[in-house]
Amino acid sequence: KNLLNVKDLYVDVEDKEILHGVNLSIGKGETHVLMGPNGTGKSTLGYALMGNPRYTVKSGEIWFDGKNITDEPVNERAKAGMFLSFQNPLEVPGVTLSSFIRNALELKTGKRTRYMEFKKELEKTMELLSMDKSYAERDLNVGFSGGEKKKAEILQLLMLKPSFAILDETDSGLDVDAVKTVSAGIEEYQKTCKGSLLIITHSTRILESLSVDYTHVMIEGKIISTGDASLVDKINENGFAEYEAE
Ligand code: ADP
Ligand code: MG
Ligand code: MG
Repeated sequence: KNLLNVKDLYVDVEDKEILHGVNLSIGKGETHVLMGPNGTGKSTLGYALMGNPRYTVKSGEIWFDGKNITDEPVNERAKAGMFLSFQNPLEVPGVTLSSFIRNALELKTGKRTRYMEFKKELEKTMELLSMDKSYAERDLNVGFSGGEKKKAEILQLLMLKPSFAILDETDSGLDVDAVKTVSAGIEEYQKTCKGSLLIITHSTRILESLSVDYTHVMIEGKIISTGDASLVDKINENGFAEYEAE
């Protein structure tokens, strides 16, 4: 049984149809990579799966964990175990990174967290991501570098332990060391949380230490090809030309 089933999904953004019938199934614990040229609708799929209200599902269905969630709001999807890491993480003045994660954790589980336990786990996870402890008490993403923002997203992933995470270009704009750190964080998620992943990326570097089950190619709002991990290398050598011609 699959964790996620996307059936013939059509999505509009500002009254323009961007996704034209996407089909995608992701099993429990599987890692899928989504590739495609810029502007093809990859981020749109991520936002639509997470339930961002600016992305209107015109037809088709999204099933998650055995439930039709097509009309569920974002917070219900998060509670059900979905997580989206943004291509451009938002800055939230007045809310510290630590309190943001703690609040998200309490919303997701419906339980109070014990502060000392939470703090211990947060600091342990920050160490894994080579993040200075002081970042916990800084306002979320405010004044963070691109790399620090991406690390903060992976920190949320490891603390919230969602059953399904969409990582949208979490590696873009990172230097070599930051890519390694972010990749190690994702590997830790694969190993300890055993969740499912949809990784949207243009690069192979982040995938080197990860096990990938399937690769999908999206062209003009449709997934037109699916293969195994080797498809990533093939695309990096040959680009999308052969798919775009079809
Ligand atoms: P990708 O992630 O593959 O680069 P996107 O999903 O970001 O592609 O964009 C697909 C298309 O949808 C683009 O033409 C983009 O301009 C448009 N689009 C996406 N989000 C919005 C938005 N919030 N408002 C207006 N247009 C959007
Ligand atoms: Mg893009
Ligand atoms: Mg995008």
